[in-house]
Amino acid sequence: MRVAFFSTKKYDRESFERWLPEHPHEINFFEAKLDRHSALLAQGHEVVCAFVNDQLDKTTLEILASMGIKLIALRCAGYNQVDLDEAKKLNLKIVRVPAYSPEAVAEHAFALILTLSRKTHKAYNRVRESNFSLEGLTGCNIHGKTIGVIGTGAIGRAFCRIAKGFGCRILAFDIFENEEMKALGVEYCSLHYLFAESQIISLHCPLTPETHHIINKKSLRRIQDGCMLINTSRGGLIETKSVISALKKGKIGFLGIDVYEQEEDLFFQNLSEQILQDEQIARLMTFPNVLITGHQAFLTREALDQIAVTTLENISAFEEKKKLINEVSL
Ligand code: NAD
Repeated sequence: MRVAFFSTKKYDRESFERWLPEHPHEINFFEAKLDRHSALLAQGHEVVCAFVNDQLDKTTLEILASMGIKLIALRCAGYNQVDLDEAKKLNLKIVRVPAYSPEAVAEHAFALILTLSRKTHKAYNRVRESNFSLEGLTGCNIHGKTIGVIGTGAIGRAFCRIAKGFGCRILAFDIFENEEMKALGVEYCSLHYLFAESQIISLHCPLTPETHHIINKKSLRRIQDGCMLINTSRGGLIETKSVISALKKGKIGFLGIDVYEQEEDLFFQNLSEQILQDEQIARLMTFPNVLITGHQAFLTREALDQIAVTTLENISAFEEKKKLINEVSL
């Protein structure tokens, strides 16, 4: 099939080209982010391949449908960027990659936890300048801590397995309890209890109307002083202004984020020559106890290969009129 591939990065192209011989579709790689303005690039294609910050709103979907696009193949797990009601009305099929390497994201969440708890980012810079002083580098153990996990889907479960290896007590909140996790010793509890008991909280639920700003002014009042908050899921789970105020008061002791509420205009681009216009991320970057990565938790070789294979299989299944096992529907 003819595929218009948006938001292309070098690593996407490399992984898809590695697997194309097994799924001979014709892919045109566009660097542009997909939105109502760039949608016209999809003219002459049958499939659009999109990523997390592409805008699949009503207008964009209408343009794509009017040009004969039949399938939107998301090369990511989350689909909060798609207007599903509109897609249904326009008879546009949406497929995604539900799980490509949950371990990649879970391990990145732990990379944030370990960097913040042992200040390795500061030590790295110091040692490069021959500063071997240990002043200010005192950390804390992860062993024995209570970790609260919100969302025990594929990534949350991988995260719990790692946390178990560290010797943590694990509390979890999910709308569905998982038997494998219970057998591992994970204790399911209310969100209230999780907030009150955890020294580290890690978010692994999707962004939905129910989870939007699950971390807000009210919930932050319930957490322990000095709590570490980790978000590798979606920026909208956190109300950024409340988190900034909790950081200023010391209520949040550490913040590690791979996703950010207003990331669409920032992430996946080199803006180092520009003046940063986003006041909230600029403020976050001033805290010594905040670590930000630019939505890279998925970025491992293993995950990129799996993303390419599943996306190409989704497109082939559509072409061959097979059941779309990874279809997103209302
Ligand atoms: P998943 O669908 O396997 O699991 C999501 C879990 O959240 C499910 O167990 C579900 O029951 C639970 N959930 C849904 N609504 C909830 C609610 N209101 N409260 C508590 N739990 C709720 O998804 P996954 O593969 O584990 O991915 C989780 C999220 O991680 C994705 O939605 C995506 O936003 C994010 N993600 C980020 C990256 C990255 O690079 N940073 C990569 C992949 C995925």
